[in-house]
Amino acid sequence: MEVYNAYSMASVAAGFTRALGVEPPYRAQRIARPLEQLIEGAHCTRAVIYNPDAIAQWLWQKYTPDFEEVYRYTSLALPLRAVMPSVTPVCFGTMYTGTLPEVHGIRKYEKPVLRTDSVYDALIRAGKKCAIVSQDGASMSRIFLEREMDYFTQYEAEEDVIAKAEELIASGKYDFISIYNGNYDHTMHGTRVESPEALAVMRKNCRFFGELMRTVESCYKGETFVGFATDHGCHDNPETGRGTHGTDLTDDLNVVHFYGILRGQDNGH
Ligand SMILES: [Zn+2]
Repeated sequence: MEVYNAYSMASVAAGFTRALGVEPPYRAQRIARPLEQLIEGAHCTRAVIYNPDAIAQWLWQKYTPDFEEVYRYTSLALPLRAVMPSVTPVCFGTMYTGTLPEVHGIRKYEKPVLRTDSVYDALIRAGKKCAIVSQDGASMSRIFLEREMDYFTQYEAEEDVIAKAEELIASGKYDFISIYNGNYDHTMHGTRVESPEALAVMRKNCRFFGELMRTVESCYKGETFVGFATDHGCHDNPETGRGTHGTDLTDDLNVVHFYGILRGQDNGH
């Protein structure tokens, strides 16, 4: 039976801002209730969102133990339905504006600068300092450009993305950091969704998340809102034998985000 997840990918953006006590992006949809409940009562001063690309819900269901580093630092698993077409700029546009593609305007695989009010715009209005760290040329390096925030998007290797993110966390300079890693998406497109290479980078995403969370714990004080938030799923194209996505199959649209409130060790910043 094909069942789509009930909560939309458009229902997390207002949670990202609410977690920091900030008004939502202008047109953002209502926060998914479980995320609202997680945030209620917390007093987060910062947020760190890790965005791995194309980690389908079915991957998590099939390889559940591989995500133990993610469970360790989060307390909410939130099933979400990505948007159509289920490709990277369309889905990240929705995730960070809280609007559907017909509102934010990216409706195919293209990477224009989004003019729709986003999480970043809302945070900047509230005086927060934001940064995006990503691989060069990635959707996340392009669609939120031209804002009063910092972009660290010149990297090729994922290790360099993570190292830079750790440096930014340790600097204590930012209130909100998005960290994008396209390694799984890139690898499954070139092989299959469950090739040994693709599964290895899926696991690597979980390890990277753990590393980042340990940096948050040791460098930040107080409470930090954290997330492991992918954009869409994936499936093998029977004709090419390679991984793909973009369709309305549940394999492409159903994803699970993981969110938590991490408490720092109060040793500075
Ligand atoms: Zn993607």
